[in-house]
Parts: sequence; C-alpha cells; structure tokens
Amino acid sequence: MKSQDYIALDETYGAHNYHPLPVVISQASGCKVKDPEGKVYLDFLSAYSAVNQGHLHPHIVQAAKDQLERVTLTSRAFHNDKMGPFLKKLCEYSGYENALPMNTGAESVETALKAARRWGAEIKGVPNGKQEIICAEGNFHGRTIAAISMSNDPDSYINYGPYVPGFVKVPYADASAIEKAVNENTVAVCIEPIQGEAGVVVPPDGYLAAVRQICDRHNILFICDEVQTGFCRTGKRFAWQHEAARPDIMCVGKALGGGIMPISAILADHCVMDVYTPGTHGSTFGGNPLAGAIGIAAIEVLEDEHLDERAARLGEIFRKEVDAITCPKKVLVRGRGLLNAVVFEKGFEAWDVCMSLRDHGLLAKQTHGNIIRFAPPLVITDRELAEAISIIAQVFEKI
Ligand SMILES: *Cc1c(COP(=O)(O)O)cnc(C)c1O
Repeated sequence: MKSQDYIALDETYGAHNYHPLPVVISQASGCKVKDPEGKVYLDFLSAYSAVNQGHLHPHIVQAAKDQLERVTLTSRAFHNDKMGPFLKKLCEYSGYENALPMNTGAESVETALKAARRWGAEIKGVPNGKQEIICAEGNFHGRTIAAISMSNDPDSYINYGPYVPGFVKVPYADASAIEKAVNENTVAVCIEPIQGEAGVVVPPDGYLAAVRQICDRHNILFICDEVQTGFCRTGKRFAWQHEAARPDIMCVGKALGGGIMPISAILADHCVMDVYTPGTHGSTFGGNPLAGAIGIAAIEVLEDEHLDERAARLGEIFRKEVDAITCPKKVLVRGRGLLNAVVFEKGFEAWDVCMSLRDHGLLAKQTHGNIIRFAPPLVITDRELAEAISIIAQVFEKI
C-alpha cells in the first residue's frame, strides 16, 4: 500500500479528532523517519517531546526486549521486581522522595490535582468541596474532563460541560495575578514552566521563582506540569531548574516512556505523597514491569548522553541561525533548549509552510495557525541540525 491508501483508511475509519499533516511514517531511527515510499524526513516534532532519546534508541529497545521475555504486567495487587528500581531511579534523577507511576500525561495531572485537593482537606484544613486550584490561561494539561475544565481554549472544552469546579484561571506569566487570586480555600497553583501547546510561551525570568514564593507565603502547593518540558528538553533535566523553583508536585510523562510506551508519574516528597493511602488512587497499568524496565533505560540514556547539555548547546545554535533567516512574515523565534517555535505575523497560515518543509524533508507542525514548533529528538547530531536549518532557510526565504 502507498501513503495515500493509509491516509484514506485513517480518514474512513478513524474519528476526525486530529488534522495531521499528510505524511505516513512506517519506520524510524534516531532523528529520522521514513514513509512507505522510502522518503526520509527529519522529525522536528518528536511526538510532542515523547521521543527525546530518539526513535528506537538501541539501549531502550534492548531493555524492552529483555523485559518482554520475563514479565510485562502484574497489576499493583502484587509487587514486581522492576517498579521499585524504576521509582528509585526516577526519584534520584529528579530529587524527590516519592513517585507515583501512571501511564499518560493527563493521568499524571489528575493524580497531582487529586493529591492537592486531598492535601488541602487533610493537611491545610480546607473544608472538603471548597478546595480551589489556580491555573493559567493558555494552558494545556491533557484531555480529561478535569484538564479541559482548566482550559480556556474553546476547541478543547466546548460542549463538554458540565465542567469540574474549583479552578481559578489567571493570565500566564503574571505572578501578581496569582497572588490576587489566592484565598483561604486555595490549595495549589498548577502551571507549565513553559507553555508548550500554546506555542512555546516562555515566561519572563523570575516568574517561576515568584510563584514558588507565593506558594510558600500562603501555604499552598506548587504543581509544575513538566510532561512536555521535562527530561532535558529545555536544556535542564526539568524546566523549573532554570530558576531553582522546585515544585511540591511535578507531573512527568512523555519522554519517560523513551518513545516506546506511555509512562507517566507524579513526584513529591512524603509530606504531600503520604495523603495517598491504600485504595485512594491507582491504575491497572501504572508501575507495570515493562514500563519499569523501559523507564529505567529511558533515564539512563538522558544521563549517559548528557542530553540536557546537548539540548542547551544546540538550542542556542538553532535560535541564532533561524533568527538570522530573512523572512518578512517571521516575527520572532523563541524557546529554551530544543523546545522552540517560530512565530509568524498574526493571521498568517503556517500550514503551507509545514507542507513545504515536508516536501524538503523536515516534519514540523503548526499550532494556533501562525506558530510552528521545532522540537527534534535531543540526540540530533550537529550535522542533522545544520541540514535542518538549511531546509528551514530554503523554505522561509520563499515565503
Ligand atoms: C502532552 C501533555 C499532557 C498530556 O499528556 P498525554 O500523555 O497526552 O495525556 C499534559 N500536560 C502537558 C504540558 C503536555 O504537553
């Protein structure tokens, strides 16, 4: 079958909840993906940062294969010999005392919200049912009913009511707006350290530290959603580390699965995590031994290949070189590490630019019409990055 045939099957049998670029991927390795016709592309989306270690990293694939011959699923009714070592690795890598494993990013956010509400009721003494969580406009925390109740993007929430109460929305990147929204029932502030889906919106320096201080002053929890920004993407292990604004609860997902399977978690210290007691939260698949084996290998790759330093260095090059490309419709290039976006004039439709990039062998996707996100696997070589920048220059110069 040809690419066109696969696309036709998707359109005939699939729900139409996405608008993908017309390209079919049937093989991948490292930074490169291939379509059924054999054309090779540089992957500049990395499955929304779930493939930081590159496609089919041999160390992670080997760990998965080995585990597939031992045991893959036990449920949490019993212990398994991979979950403990995995959680130890994750806690040591992130500097937290405890981890609670789930599967998708949205579940990790749910797990954080539930922990915060329970902490509010049991530790802070807010009457149950009154707990409030402050969140930021422009956020993306996933697709569950709670996550879309935090959203102010109509595409995400329209006609899915009734919405989950208890969320207070304030403008992003404005710490004083958070402080004004705090009251005696506030239990947490939940934000992304950089808003990924919003188009790689980087808050001003000092914002995260200010949020941390507000939370300390008012005895409320700081929840950082690092599902997209975590695991070296922004040039640090976690994006909050740019400001030493250590959150009370950190949500992680995406790259924790090493590009192989969904693995997520929340991280916290005992004082928060201990609100969870037997039976109060869980997941059939969370903490399964296959995920444990893959999660350990995924973190080992980040460490062994120093992907934080790599993302920081290559990100500087990317922004400098793409900034220098002449293109009258381009307004600015922004980002941290290898999480970057090019913003075009308001009203500009970037779809055709993505199509042209595709034709030149680079896959990237626009968001909000006029923004293109560029986020390659962090294992991208200097040469592949140079190749990508030259493709971007060729395409942008013709706009
Ligand atoms: C992708 C994402 C999520 C949701 O993760 P899923 O695995 O798709 O459920 C949550 N928060 C942020 C910041 C994300 O980028």
